[in-house]
Amino acid sequence: MTNKLRYFIGNWKMFGDIGSFRIINKINQFSRKSRNKFNKKIILCVPNTLILFIRKKLKSKSISLGVQNCHHHKGYGPFTGSVSSSMLKKSGAEFIILGHSENRSEGETNHLIKKKIQAALSEELNIIFCIGETLKEKNSGKTSFILKKQIRSSIQKDFNINKIIFAYEPIWSIGTNQIPKVDELSKIIRSIKNEIKIIFKRVKSPRVLYGGSVNDKNIRSFSSISDIDGFLIGGASQSSKKFIDIVKNYYK
Ligand code: PEP
Repeated sequence: MTNKLRYFIGNWKMFGDIGSFRIINKINQFSRKSRNKFNKKIILCVPNTLILFIRKKLKSKSISLGVQNCHHHKGYGPFTGSVSSSMLKKSGAEFIILGHSENRSEGETNHLIKKKIQAALSEELNIIFCIGETLKEKNSGKTSFILKKQIRSSIQKDFNINKIIFAYEPIWSIGTNQIPKVDELSKIIRSIKNEIKIIFKRVKSPRVLYGGSVNDKNIRSFSSISDIDGFLIGGASQSSKKFIDIVKNYYK
């Protein structure tokens, strides 16, 4: 395994209240203590209700904080119940997950996701852009077509690629305990990188993560894929022990 930087990003989904600060605190302490041991970046994407509270409460921050979605409209507007990228930025978000399949399944289209990416980029937020195919699409050999379409429809060449991290999250692997085979995943990560290089001709090393049922047991199986730049971790990031064990076991 090379010593390149790896991302470990937690997606808390609809989880957490003020008491959950202790989970963040433990992960932050671990991140600080292990900073010379592992070349890693830890980012926790929490619900909007917690971002300001955590930012204020977290002393000597060794992790970064993110959120999980935003409205496509910039600034303020008549959108009841919605939150804009500027509001999230001002509350302490540095990163934002966009295009997550759980939001796509609620009606988010590639076009809407593109508008959200534009709104988030205008606030200089770092984007974790999720793409992935369904089981039906995988079984009918359409994975590559779907991923290309998702990338091409939401990303354009004048976007700041340095602010975008891609996360390959096959829908059939999210929360199911199913993970892709190493050789298949390796090929897909490489093909996503090639696609990004076609759009952004000058980008040397696009960042592509894997997400879907990553846990402290299966994380070792991904260590052999040098092209993977890190992981987006859902359920297991809601426990400090599970999340920390994932990082430790990856480097074992
Ligand atoms: C996710 O929702 O981004 C995710 C990867 O979930 P899980 O790890 O629970 O499969």
